[in-house]
Amino acid sequence: MATTRGYGGAKYFGYTLVGCYEWLRGARTKVDWHKAIWDSWILPKHRFMGWLIAHKSLHTNSRLKGFGLNVDGMCFLCGQADETQEHLFFECAFSRRRKVKNAMVLSAMYHVWQQRNKSRIEQLVLRPSRIALLINDAMKRRVKERDKRKLNT
Ligand SMILES: [Zn+2]
Repeated sequence: MATTRGYGGAKYFGYTLVGCYEWLRGARTKVDWHKAIWDSWILPKHRFMGWLIAHKSLHTNSRLKGFGLNVDGMCFLCGQADETQEHLFFECAFSRRRKVKNAMVLSAMYHVWQQRNKSRIEQLVLRPSRIALLINDAMKRRVKERDKRKLNT
């Protein structure tokens, strides 16, 4: 008969809910990337996208085409190749632009340095997630400025 030993630990006819769930879910293998993706310093939306990428589950055009959707499968950014994850992040002319990567890295370094100075002068330390938002906002502003300049020339 049932004996209670805390949530999930209750035994029903010799079985536990946790045991049943694990049996239904099946065997799981540990992966070496989980700590890099589920790090609390990473914004939740970035963590989720990292998890999708790790499982090759981003809804790229190529993948949607494979599902039978009426899309051409080409990359939205360059229009030169099938939009797979590998293309999008490693091969696409858009993502390979050194200027974009450099701008992101230097923006991150700038904001970390700014926070270092604030903590020294004002004894104020922002949460890493807040710093990440500042970096994101700075990059968005820069891209908008660049787009405006391109439209005006
Ligand atoms: Zn592309």
